[in-house]
Amino acid sequence: MANDNIPRLPPSGIKVIVVGAGFAGLAAAIECDRKGHSVTLLEKVEDIEEIMRIGDIISFDPNGSKAFERWPGVVDKMEAIARQTTWLDLYHHEGKFATRQSFAHEKAWGRRINGHRGQLHNIIYQHAKARGVDIRLGKRVEDYFESDHPPEAGVVVGGERMAADVVIAAEGVRSRGRKMVLGFDENPKSSGYAVYRAWFPSDEVAKNPVIKHLVVNGDTHQGFIGPDIHFLASSIKGGKEVNWVFTHIDDGNIEESWQFPGKPEEALKYLGGWCPVVHELVKSTPPGRLIDHKLVYRDPLPTFISPQARIALIGDSAHPFLPTSIQGASQSIEDGVVLATCLELSGKSKIPLALRAYEKIRYGRVHRAQAMGPVTRERWHKADWNKVWKNPEMIHLIREPWLLNFDAERDAYEKYDEVAAALEPPRARL
Ligand SMILES: Cc1cc2nc3c(=O)[nH]c(=O)nc-3n(C[C@H](O)[C@H](O)[C@H](O)COP(=O)(O)OP(=O)(O)OC[C@H]3O[C@@H](n4cnc5c(N)ncnc54)[C@H](O)[C@@H]3O)c2cc1C
Repeated sequence: MANDNIPRLPPSGIKVIVVGAGFAGLAAAIECDRKGHSVTLLEKVEDIEEIMRIGDIISFDPNGSKAFERWPGVVDKMEAIARQTTWLDLYHHEGKFATRQSFAHEKAWGRRINGHRGQLHNIIYQHAKARGVDIRLGKRVEDYFESDHPPEAGVVVGGERMAADVVIAAEGVRSRGRKMVLGFDENPKSSGYAVYRAWFPSDEVAKNPVIKHLVVNGDTHQGFIGPDIHFLASSIKGGKEVNWVFTHIDDGNIEESWQFPGKPEEALKYLGGWCPVVHELVKSTPPGRLIDHKLVYRDPLPTFISPQARIALIGDSAHPFLPTSIQGASQSIEDGVVLATCLELSGKSKIPLALRAYEKIRYGRVHRAQAMGPVTRERWHKADWNKVWKNPEMIHLIREPWLLNFDAERDAYEKYDEVAAALEPPRARL
């Protein structure tokens, strides 16, 4: 039952099925509810807390967190558990300090929210529930369908068909909806890299004289740059928890999974000649707290929408990102915002037009953001330190206003009429 105490537009009469309760699916469901569409959200996992335990650091930039500010109570809860830093300190891998990149001026663009993926996910999930979104857990979508006569789209769950006006496929990198949209199976390519990722309480770190400075004075954020490897470490919740991640060359034995275990002693083999801070941090990782995550790459898809434009891909289903873009999660939120807005503006009678407009508005922006991941990676991994010492800013993260100082909802409201007019076939003359 929709919660009447939460503001939403009057009912649009549009029935939406969302598949997948990750960040993309939840954002789309919440945004559709805000716009007065009626939403059913299907998630294959039965125990949602299971996926809240998995994962470590995730980042939302001002363009992604803009949506959270429109969801009552959400942003305050997020900020209470997010990292409280406005800078990134960058070091040469042998330990010499290179530069501090400040993000303080970005405050005018919106909020940067970096925190534990599961905890942030839970805040959004609880908000969707509080709004009264119809969330059905333990529902694995097996297939998709769409038709013009009758005008509908739907999914098959447990052998049963469920129909609506539009289906939003937000099932992540292994999307089944992608096959429906593309008409063929599309397989990931190896990016050539994997990432060790760890998150754990900082008690032992605080006792170690080499690394205690990372946690005893509140939150910190540091990066160490070496050939073909970057190592990022941060502490959070006033230094009470700590996380680190580093890329390494993928030798082909790692799975594309968020649960493939890693061993600190194996991780250390990649870090010969690296500074003691990095070594001690890896060694302080408690058993069971390290995963090794294969980074795959997918070429940009030719389209995000199905042949009859009643099924749309969003989030990682449509465009998986490399972590060095720091935009995967934010772009998945923008998708839901824009799609819900296009449906609002098209109305129930023109749903295919809404989906085409969604694709048109999102396609170029998403792929421009996606292309920044490899640029930052190369900037770090192939850094010429003779030049960096003279101009340390050349290893700063690329932070551009077109990407970050951006409100996806406002942009969709502004662009929709023009985009829709260009997409609609010209009317026959009377
Ligand atoms: C378990 C897990 C841990 C992660 N940890 C991190 C992390 O620590 N740091 C980071 O930067 N990124 C992490 N990610 C990736 C990150 O969440 C995404 O890159 C980004 O937020 C975009 O999210 P998404 O909603 O498109 O995809 P996802 O987050 O992958 O969500 C997809 C959802 O769809 C559900 N689903 C899949 N298939 C079906 C089906 N057939 N029927 C119904 N439901 C289905 C999945 O169970 C999942 O809940 C993680 C993803 C997962 C799944």
